[in-house]
Amino acid sequence: MQLIVATRNAHKTREIQRILGPAFMVTDLSAHPEIPDIRENGKSFEENAILKAVGASRHLPGFIVADDSGLEVDALGGAPGIFSARYAGENATDKQNIERLLGELARTVADETKRSAQFRCAIALARKGELLGTFEGIVEGIVVERARGLYGFGYDPIFVPRGFQETFAELPAEVKDTISHRAKAIRGLNAKLAALKTAD
Ligand code: IMP
Repeated sequence: MQLIVATRNAHKTREIQRILGPAFMVTDLSAHPEIPDIRENGKSFEENAILKAVGASRHLPGFIVADDSGLEVDALGGAPGIFSARYAGENATDKQNIERLLGELARTVADETKRSAQFRCAIALARKGELLGTFEGIVEGIVVERARGLYGFGYDPIFVPRGFQETFAELPAEVKDTISHRAKAIRGLNAKLAALKTAD
């Protein structure tokens, strides 16, 4: 089955392809420069995922998937949340976003044990301008004080999922792909795609 992910973030596309496995052929908008960027002005991950999936599905045939995701840090009232990609400013690098987050936490958190956080992922599925479903996944953990590890992307080097000692950037992709927020949301997506295929 072919899926187009409404993103130009190659890391997300790669993870979605890995999680879905070889039965799917996953491409993204990097092959479609003509499609305008969609303004992510929703108030939640789910709203933004819907905007991206439905928006792209007006320009492209077949199933369109959008992933909107980010890190919610409890001591920062859920920040950076939907602003995760641009926490340190428009076009910020992953390193700059991590530096800002660690700086905010160092200023805010008096008790070093209060570093709980969660990654949240909302996935929307659309076809021909119609929303077919939304799916959510969460993984809980803590934010560590120093970046560790080379795998993954975004905030992976500072997030240790519950039950582990390693950050997401130290864990092999197979482990992240089993327990991550994205993996959990994709379980819902997979079930919906299987039901749509049977109905066709
Ligand atoms: P979006 O493209 O607007 O959904 O922004 C997603 C941002 O959230 C990314 O740029 C990362 O900063 C962060 N993020 C989402 N998922 C992950 C993940 O699996 N690992 C690390 N950072 C993530």
